[in-house]
Amino acid sequence: MADETQQNNAHERIQKLRDEIEHHSYLYYVKDAPEISDAAFDSLLRDLDALEKKYLQFLDPSSPTQRVGGAVATQFTPVQHAVRMYSLDNALDTDELEAWMDRMESHFGRFVPVVCELKIDGSSIALTYDNGSLVMAATRGDGTTGEDVTVNVRTVRDVPLQLASAGKGSIVNLDAPVEVRGEIYMSKASFEKLNRQAAKEGKPAFANPRNAAAGSLRQKDYHVTAERDLSTFIYAIADEANITATSQWELLAWLRECGFHVNPDVVRCEKRSEVLDFCKHCLEMRDSLPYEIDGVVVKIDSFAQQRELGFTSRAPRWAIAYKFPPEEKTTLLRDITVQVGRTGALTPVAELDPVRVAGSVVARATLHNSDEVARKNLRIGDTVVVRKAGDVIPEVLGPILSLRPEDSVPWQMPMSCPSCGSLVVREEGEAVYRCVSLDCPALAKERLIHWASRNALDIEGMGEEIVTRLLATGKVADVADYYKLTEADLANLDMNRVNREGEPILLGEVVAKKLMVALDESKTRSFARVLFGLGIRHVGKTTAELIVHAYPSLEALSKASVEELSAIPGVGLVIAESVHSFLANETNQAVLARLKDEGFALVEEIVEVGEQPLEGLTFVLTGSLVESGMTRDEAGERLKALGAKVSGSVSKKTSYVICGQDAGSKRTKAETLGVPILTERQFLRILDEKQAPAELGM
Ligand code: NAD
Repeated sequence: MADETQQNNAHERIQKLRDEIEHHSYLYYVKDAPEISDAAFDSLLRDLDALEKKYLQFLDPSSPTQRVGGAVATQFTPVQHAVRMYSLDNALDTDELEAWMDRMESHFGRFVPVVCELKIDGSSIALTYDNGSLVMAATRGDGTTGEDVTVNVRTVRDVPLQLASAGKGSIVNLDAPVEVRGEIYMSKASFEKLNRQAAKEGKPAFANPRNAAAGSLRQKDYHVTAERDLSTFIYAIADEANITATSQWELLAWLRECGFHVNPDVVRCEKRSEVLDFCKHCLEMRDSLPYEIDGVVVKIDSFAQQRELGFTSRAPRWAIAYKFPPEEKTTLLRDITVQVGRTGALTPVAELDPVRVAGSVVARATLHNSDEVARKNLRIGDTVVVRKAGDVIPEVLGPILSLRPEDSVPWQMPMSCPSCGSLVVREEGEAVYRCVSLDCPALAKERLIHWASRNALDIEGMGEEIVTRLLATGKVADVADYYKLTEADLANLDMNRVNREGEPILLGEVVAKKLMVALDESKTRSFARVLFGLGIRHVGKTTAELIVHAYPSLEALSKASVEELSAIPGVGLVIAESVHSFLANETNQAVLARLKDEGFALVEEIVEVGEQPLEGLTFVLTGSLVESGMTRDEAGERLKALGAKVSGSVSKKTSYVICGQDAGSKRTKAETLGVPILTERQFLRILDEKQAPAELGM
């Protein structure tokens, strides 16, 4: 029963894969507009091949694994190939290449010489010469029938219209047509130029030079082909019996004599190691070539030996295409898990069936945020395309929709933090969901370090190493725990290091004493610094001060709504929401209550009248305050908080004019009246030091 279900599942997947592959072959070969990468396509083909080999009962001669290329577009005259055009079998890594060499070696009883050529990433072309003149150019099509593209190929500059006389001497029967084969391609430079032009004209871009070459070759108007700057490399002959050459190596020499463009990067290898070295060398120089290659073709050199081996239904047995490590693969998206980062950001992570991509195994890949999961339309159970170029971080490109299981459901970000279980929040305009809970272990360390930092609670000596150890030993989990520490706890803190005698190093009494004093002192810091120290997202030092100025106690602040908070000058909706959700979180409320119990006032001391350093002074603000980004209203509020009057116009009574960028007539008036002018920087210093300009020597 289980077997039967398995077979049915396999059959269904085989069908789906075949349909999918046919669809992409059509887009690729006929439309020249692939929707997925070659590597992803090859990966699907491999999946199908593996399933067909496992379930032989489902093998079908019309399966894409058994055939060459694609269909023939109807706008061209079909051409029957006198000798069939084949594809090539692939070796996807050096192990597979070695396995092919093993087979060759066991067939011939020794390593027979091979020729290694670059695998040009273009489109197959067959050129027929009659009496030395080009009479026909045809595409490969499905291998039996191709398309007549003679008129177009005549415009390709490196295709000889006449064979050079030097080569004619080696042709056995000059009266019979000679058909040579090779690759027509577009250089990287021409491809870029073409796509730049397409972008300018608002036309769709070609996916890659191969498709651009195939598309340019199959134009209805040959003038268009002529403009496209195509080139060729010729490397084969349809019927080698018609030339005197007896090997691939000699054939290449003859092709050169005839005037064909033959690729110079070819080697004849008499040893296996030379083949592997050449593949490695090509992979390294790949990027520096002016055209695209996607591998190395290894061919048995001797024609007699080639004939002995023959062909399968789609490819010669005497050749193999070693493909460079693919940068894309398909695999199963098993699960989407969620990670909590240091800042509380929740990141969905793709858990994949491990696959080898670009030389390394990929089993996980970040999906960044929930919008990205939705944009890529990913679901658990999908077959997905994974990309990894060189050392680049692996990326899930998207699902293959036709392979999606019927019962799959859209993925949703969990509403509670996977690390601590508290509710997660998403702020307005943000792509990321966050855990804002103060006791979330994922955030704890960052929070603890921030709390102790100079601009926050300024706990001297409480650095990263000690915080790490306090966390690791379970002594501290949130900021309120700092104040439960005893001197003995600190003195005996195991620093996870050993001295020369191999004994564990403890923090020691001296440091412990100092830390206890620093912790105690930190309880006297202002409410604004506490607010900043809590590490609420978007709440920096200045913002904390602005908030506390409007709501000077925790009690008042906790009652403020988002609207009220966002009405504070300098506090927008984003900050207001962040503060509100932070204070609404129950865990955070508990931490704040414990801080209060420890002696934190959580109330900003009311500024005494005597502490209004700007009392009696009138300020005028003009220009934009680019450095602080404050509006003039916000700046005015800050001055008023220090006792100043703020006026809209300059008069003799004005004490100072603060000039931001592009200050205009008010500045001129101040200069005329002799009113002292302050820069934005000086203004910020006044706010910072809470002193009148004269006190600061301005
Ligand atoms: P292939 O490109 O893997 O190899 C065979 C071809 O290599 C030959 O026909 C020949 O044209 C070419 N070649 C280049 N240099 C050569 C050399 N020195 N000697 C001999 N041959 C050389 O196989 P294929 O059947 O032409 O096409 C399959 C390719 O097309 C795969 O790479 C596949 O990924 C891609 N494809 C992609 C999609 C897609 O949707 N992205 C769809 C269909 C096919």
